[in-house]
Amino acid sequence: MIELSYARAADARDAVRMAAGPGGRYLGGGTNLVDLMRETIERPSSLIDVSGLSAAIEETPGGGLMIGAAARNTAVAEHHAVRTRFPLLSRAIVAGASPQIRNMATVGGNLLQRTRCAYFYDVDGSRCNKRDPGHGCDAIDGLNRSHAILGTSPSCVATHPSDMCVALAALDAVVHTHGPGGERVLALRDLHRLPEDHPELETTLEPGELIVAVEVPPLPVATRSAYRKIRDRASYAFALVSVAAVLELDGDTVRDVRLALGGVAPKPWRADRAEEALRGARATPERFRDAADAELAQARPLAGNAFKVELVRRAIAAVLSELAETSA
Ligand code: SF4
Repeated sequence: MIELSYARAADARDAVRMAAGPGGRYLGGGTNLVDLMRETIERPSSLIDVSGLSAAIEETPGGGLMIGAAARNTAVAEHHAVRTRFPLLSRAIVAGASPQIRNMATVGGNLLQRTRCAYFYDVDGSRCNKRDPGHGCDAIDGLNRSHAILGTSPSCVATHPSDMCVALAALDAVVHTHGPGGERVLALRDLHRLPEDHPELETTLEPGELIVAVEVPPLPVATRSAYRKIRDRASYAFALVSVAAVLELDGDTVRDVRLALGGVAPKPWRADRAEEALRGARATPERFRDAADAELAQARPLAGNAFKVELVRRAIAAVLSELAETSA
């Protein structure tokens, strides 16, 4: 039996103080961490319950949002300002998991959920560099249909599982934290790491650093945005490919575009190359496919997931074409 202590934090400072030392883990809704503990992948010695910290969803000057990290996913998806100003965020959250899980899962936990790579969870039967650094990766030559094609390394090809993070990446969200060294703000795109030689390091958070809020900056054009998730079944399945997009046109020319991908990389993948190819270009299906190709030039498909390259290409073109039609 593993000894485990549990305490509820009164505020962020209290939580950071209680998490000091090895073995402390923050507990939000527990929808991922408890599974990981059951599988013995995570073995904390103390749980600091932060589910009672700020869950407020507040509008910021200019039309942005400040979302407390303890806000439940359902509350965010259903919030009026989210649905009307950032519909892609609401749709991305609703596309994830089941209603019961969304009711429990917190925003902070969603950001920090870990990959659903089956080899990662197969503690007794599979090699996994993320779980046991330096021991190998059975996914690379194994069943890798659902694995990543972008941002991978010879150490790990796992995908990041979140839908919400893909929308937040497209929206240039920033993350507010409290930690032993004080408070800081970092761009969401800088929160998650690529695996490189250390897939066990998944974020840039310092030990004991707690996410307290996510801020979505104002983006008026986000009222015309979309999130499309392609998966093997209609609900409670992770993305094979997902696309979050915001498109602003000037006549038939792309004035601005925000594009992020899910299900294809170890982190929410901002499609910078595609965006660059699109700004100032004609808003046509051909140019959307060309932009997708610019992004996919860096893809490294595996034996089982080469289909994702064409799937991403078609999904980007379809989502942007749909947005262009509704913007005309
Ligand atoms: Fe582990 Fe990553 Fe390989 Fe999956 S892909 S087995 S998480 S090292």
